[in-house]
Amino acid sequence: MTTTDTAAILDRFRRAGALLEGHFRLTSGLHSPGYLQCALVLQHPRDAGALGAALADRVRGLGVQTVLSPALGGIVIGQEVGRALGVRAIFAERQDGRLTLRRGFSLEAGERVLVVEDVVTTGGSTQETIDVAREAGAVVVGAAAIIDRSGGQQKIDVPFHVLAEVSLPTYDPDSCPLCREGTPVVKPGSRA
Ligand SMILES: [Zn+2]
Repeated sequence: MTTTDTAAILDRFRRAGALLEGHFRLTSGLHSPGYLQCALVLQHPRDAGALGAALADRVRGLGVQTVLSPALGGIVIGQEVGRALGVRAIFAERQDGRLTLRRGFSLEAGERVLVVEDVVTTGGSTQETIDVAREAGAVVVGAAAIIDRSGGQQKIDVPFHVLAEVSLPTYDPDSCPLCREGTPVVKPGSRA
């Protein structure tokens, strides 16, 4: 991946307000110098299509037959990757806390599956989606995400393809360096 590619991807996020830099109070109550919300870039079909095509280019050699995404975050980008690859795109969703295939979605034994997410934070939901495909007998040939914010900590057990890596530290308000500098903290989405 070239630096230009990564810069172009992140510019697309910034233009959509999906990547903000400053001093934010997150929903968790933690503070961060950055805010990332993939849904804000994916709400624009042109951006979603371009990101899906860029991810598809990374995995074109894998012989993917089906894209599988975890609901809800992975659905839009999964659809676009499927469109660009010319394969079907299905999703798994939680039922009683467990990720499962519903709505009549199924995978055949040996079917070559690509797991697609919007953003990987710990890799947990991506790995869980991989496990859903394997339980159905499919072969997971790779995983892909627009953004990896795990800081290299994800432990996905298939080749992982990503368009950009973003490192956004979080701080307890009591030990936030931005608070210490006196920078005003804002809630993402509010007009500062
Ligand atoms: Zn702070």
